Amino acid sequence: MEETNIIVIDADVETICCDGEKDGLGHPAVYFNFKKQDRVVCNYCDKIYIKKKENIKNV
Ligand SMILES: [Zn+2]
Repeated sequence: MEETNIIVIDADVETICCDGEKDGLGHPAVYFNFKKQDRVVCNYCDKIYIKKKENIKNV
């Protein structure tokens, strides 16, 4: 139960698809567009999709 529902998405991705893919308890595939947001929450399975910050650098 310690598993997080946070999924990091590449900064250049505008639309993500979620189908619940957890323990077979999926839901119909739904698409979310980030538009101007940094994060999107799936209203079926509560997964949180967060865009990577483009300006993060691993120096
Ligand atoms: Zn979902």
